[in-house]
Amino acid sequence: MMTLLKQLRLSGLYEQLPQITEAARQSQLSYEAFLTQVLQAEIVTRQERADRRRLRAARLPFKGRLEAFDFRFQPSVSERLIRELAGLSFLESATNVMLLGPPGVGKTHLACALSIKALEAGHTVLFITLRDLVQIIEQPHLPYKADPMKRYAQAKLLVIDEVGYTRLTSSQARALFDLVSMRYERGSIILTSNLNFAEWGTLLSDDVLATALLDRLLHHAEVITINGRSYRMKNHMNGDQPSNQPKTK
Ligand code: ADP
Ligand code: MG
Repeated sequence: MMTLLKQLRLSGLYEQLPQITEAARQSQLSYEAFLTQVLQAEIVTRQERADRRRLRAARLPFKGRLEAFDFRFQPSVSERLIRELAGLSFLESATNVMLLGPPGVGKTHLACALSIKALEAGHTVLFITLRDLVQIIEQPHLPYKADPMKRYAQAKLLVIDEVGYTRLTSSQARALFDLVSMRYERGSIILTSNLNFAEWGTLLSDDVLATALLDRLLHHAEVITINGRSYRMKNHMNGDQPSNQPKTK
């Protein structure tokens, strides 16, 4: 029996079949009901495996969950708006989300939180820093290799984290513009940045390109500006807290 399962690649049933068979015997299931249970067990296992694969492929930097976000600490973030975004209708309208603010205010955390919601709803998500992204997409596409640009263009949700820490070369800026154009009105981008929009010309070393890029990014977008304190510094500024807490990156 196990050999047959192996041949059919029904590995999900491997561990469960003995219990399913025993339970079916005891409750005297019909052949049809038994077969349905068996097939369902395999489908559930496959689904779980696919979900884990999607989660891994998303490459979230950490599991920042919405439930763990302290809105009282960061009053400049509208809890109502974030909860609305967590309902994911922005994905269907291909609306972008721009999370702006200084380091430590929770931009990456909120981007992770929305990513987790999207993953739980069954969507593909790719999370990457701008620095890594441009290095990948600026490479010429080799015919025998999967086009990385396509991969980042096609994910249901693309998160571009840490926009502003690295200045782009002109070919990187061009590649970023192409990617954003490919996703324009097709797929949402969540972007985090410590820059204001006026600084994008410097970031891309090209004012005209920056204007065109922002035009596409902001046409359908929620812009969330966070101007509170750094959560990382929280304990250090309270005074009554030990200052030797392990630093989170
Ligand atoms: P940013 O990306 O804006 O620099 P992060 O999202 O990386 O900041 O946040 C830094 C750390 O602080 C992370 O570990 C994050 O989980 C935590 N953090 C930030 N803001 C909050 C908050 N309001 N509630 C709970 N944790 C937070
Ligand atoms: Mg961050």
